[in-house]
Amino acid sequence: MVAHVRASSLLPHGVMHTRSSTSISPGLAAPLFVVSPHLDDAVFSCGMLLASRPGSIVCTVFCGEPDPPQYTPWDRSAGHRDSSDALRARVAEDEHALAVLRARGVRLPFLDSQYGATPTVETLGRALTHAWREAGLPRLVVPLGLYHSDHILVGDACRALVLAQRLSDAIVYEDALYRTIRGVTGRRYEALARQGFTFAPLDAQANASLRAPGSANAKWRAAHAYRSQLRALSDAHPYDLVEPERYRLIVPARPSPHRLRTAPSSR
Ligand SMILES: [Zn+2]
Repeated sequence: MVAHVRASSLLPHGVMHTRSSTSISPGLAAPLFVVSPHLDDAVFSCGMLLASRPGSIVCTVFCGEPDPPQYTPWDRSAGHRDSSDALRARVAEDEHALAVLRARGVRLPFLDSQYGATPTVETLGRALTHAWREAGLPRLVVPLGLYHSDHILVGDACRALVLAQRLSDAIVYEDALYRTIRGVTGRRYEALARQGFTFAPLDAQANASLRAPGSANAKWRAAHAYRSQLRALSDAHPYDLVEPERYRLIVPARPSPHRLRTAPSSR
């Protein structure tokens, strides 16, 4: 995560607009499969959407526990003794948050970059595909993948899944907090446009459905379940958590060896 930064121009300059908004309303009311890099990202970025889709699954990628335990500055700043203590507490926070949103958690055993041993995009893609199939192939909601190397990696793995499965209805969300860093979101869209991806806006009906009554309140309560992470962010109320959530429909390019290459990570 990142310390709070001021919101600037949040419009993604690289977004490719289609002539008319693509209708995605059919099926939007059904439970979703939301991919979350860390324990908190899906709720911070998609809490209102999750609140309006009870029964959705949040699949969190970096839930692995290092053995032996590690001692990192981030975990210490979040108030944890070591990595084992951190993972136990963070999973409990996640359970609390997902219960508020009536969602279910699926957690993959990969290690957060602060612990080393980061997986490859191919390994992640296979694991995500397996988890998504096990869940019954719900509609995918995936991170754009901004700023943090773990987020970029998960975004790349999700797009590889979208291409491999030839999905035409996957939704991308802009990663909360990181999306507020000036230029980060626009540069990501531009890089993906060079790989052949375009991103269509949701139609008005779909956008309206993201603001179901009570969903903002539920998101607020769920986000505050992640107490240790909010402590590490040095701000009990990161202002971006109350800003509108932002979604686009992924319009994948036709698969080709060039386009299947992943973007370089920040590592
Ligand atoms: Zn994260």
